[in-house]
Amino acid sequence: MGDYYEPWTYEYEHLLTAPAGEHTPVARPTSLLTGKDTKITWSANWDDSLAGGNELAAADPILAKVSGAVKLEYEKAFMFFLPRICEHCLNPSCAASCPSGAIYKRAEDGIVLVDQDRCRGWRMCVTGCPYKKIYFNHRTGKAEKCTFCFPRVEIGLPTVCSETCVGRLRYIGLLLYDADAVAQAAATRSETDLYAAQRSVFLDPHDPRVVAAARRTGIPEDWIEGAQRSPVWDLIMRYEVALPLHPEYRTMPMVWYIPPLSPVVDALRDTGHDGEDMGNLFGAVDALRIPVEYLAELFSAGDPAPVTAVLQRLAAMRAYQRRVNLGEERDESIAEAVGMTGQQMDAMYRLLAIAKYDERYVIPAAHAEIAHGLEELATECSLDYEGGPGMGGSGPFGEVSGRPVPLAVENFQVLAERQRSDNLPDPTTRGRVNLLNWDGRGRPEGLFPERKDKS
Ligand code: SF4
Repeated sequence: MGDYYEPWTYEYEHLLTAPAGEHTPVARPTSLLTGKDTKITWSANWDDSLAGGNELAAADPILAKVSGAVKLEYEKAFMFFLPRICEHCLNPSCAASCPSGAIYKRAEDGIVLVDQDRCRGWRMCVTGCPYKKIYFNHRTGKAEKCTFCFPRVEIGLPTVCSETCVGRLRYIGLLLYDADAVAQAAATRSETDLYAAQRSVFLDPHDPRVVAAARRTGIPEDWIEGAQRSPVWDLIMRYEVALPLHPEYRTMPMVWYIPPLSPVVDALRDTGHDGEDMGNLFGAVDALRIPVEYLAELFSAGDPAPVTAVLQRLAAMRAYQRRVNLGEERDESIAEAVGMTGQQMDAMYRLLAIAKYDERYVIPAAHAEIAHGLEELATECSLDYEGGPGMGGSGPFGEVSGRPVPLAVENFQVLAERQRSDNLPDPTTRGRVNLLNWDGRGRPEGLFPERKDKS
């Protein structure tokens, strides 16, 4: 329990049934093991969002590496939010650590999933994932993780976290990569070479040889076109502003991040300098050792060069676009200073700042040829399982809204409709194709013929 934390729920029922009184009722936490009141002191990702920071920050290995120069006075620290989901790694250590072979990377789209039927609850994956992105469901006794909203992705819709991000920060796109080169890249000796090694695995979708090879292996035309329009390719390979999170973990993570320029801009502004001026920004990127070193520990195994290059590109884009917005003459030397052209600056600005939905998410839908396999897989979503989050009604393991248990028979159109719908399916029609309209429980009247010998 110390390692996996004590599961708990809240006394939600009390919020609804408490008698009218002077104080607003609260939902106290209760232990799912004992049913008694409990005090929450630890859970999965407890240290995210600074929870537990007072106890844990001193042991932060990254802070230790930046030589104790950071004072743990939060009001003086620079802060940025780093939302983390499963990385759907090219070399997933969660899968490697599963004794049951329940975790697999889908060949169709690279999404990493837990087969709930095969999972035996060993929990090796919980410790095996260095990003701590596997959670143990105490009710089902199975491991769960981000599913990259695969039923949505299959029909060309972005994940819910992407679509609902108010900052419009997330981008989804297709990347072609050389699967045979992954193991060697992951074994690159020097940690600081891993960023370049992972980039070398990605294949240029504009290269005619890559396109021809993709066609030979049966990759559909719209997927190749999707790879060519991929915003993720542009951010990682064309503009080189996205970096992998902790490449030194060697799992070849596939959720990449654009390091924030804000600590640098804030520092300039706080000291009365112009935070849009390229000279100031470049100087500050060099001078502000701590933010850059810290970011380098997150995104480039401690090598400050890739992070500095990204921050300089972002700084240049700021300075270049300010002139454009103020109606001043374009200063091509700003773009040249970071190895770009003015046109590329415009395109990068457009993608980062004002790109529309269709440019941020370029997701070709799954193909009818493989739809049958995908439909069956769709029932394996851990979130839809009895006991999964939001499942199963009120009971000792949580209060939930409850939804129909999925059935294996569902056609592609119905799946697409369900994913696009704003409402939950009507439980009486279930929104699914079920030839018998029977969920396998009980004996609905008329389902079976009357027994002849019934008297
Ligand atoms: S982030 Fe963790 S859970 Fe996700 S694929 Fe990588 S190793 Fe597995």
